[in-house]
Amino acid sequence: MDQASALASATPATRVTTREIAAAHGVSLRTAQRWAKAGKLAAQKVAGRWVITLTAPGLDGFKPFQLDKAREVIEQGAILATSRPHVYRAISSDGTTVYLASPDGCSCPAGLKARRCYHIAAVRILLAARTGRRAA
Ligand SMILES: [Zn+2]
Repeated sequence: MDQASALASATPATRVTTREIAAAHGVSLRTAQRWAKAGKLAAQKVAGRWVITLTAPGLDGFKPFQLDKAREVIEQGAILATSRPHVYRAISSDGTTVYLASPDGCSCPAGLKARRCYHIAAVRILLAARTGRRAA
C-alpha cells in the first residue's frame, strides 16, 4: 500500500520535514533528526528522509500555491521564531523588510489588507509542527 500518497491526498493535512521542525523550534537539523529517530515526532521515513504528516488547523482556506510558498519560506529560513509564542518574523523575498506574522494576521502588505497571506500559512504549519512534537 502506498501510505505516502494516501497521506498526501488527505486535506488539510500537510507534510513537513525535519528541517522545518528544526526551524520551528530553533534547533539544529541534527537535533530534529534525533527527535524523529527517538520517536518524539510523528515521523516516518519516506525515501530515506524523515517526513512528519500534520493536520494543520486552518490550512484548508489557503490555495495550494500559498502552501507551497509557505513551505518554501520555512525551508529557506525566512520565517523565524521570536521570543513571543505564536509570533514569527517573516523576511520579505528581497530580504529588505521584516514582517511580523501570527496564525491570525501578518504585517505584510497582503496581511494588512486582511488577506490570508502565505506567511500566515507558514506560521500555522510551524505551530502544527510543535503540536506534533508534543503529541508524540
Ligand atoms: Zn504576510
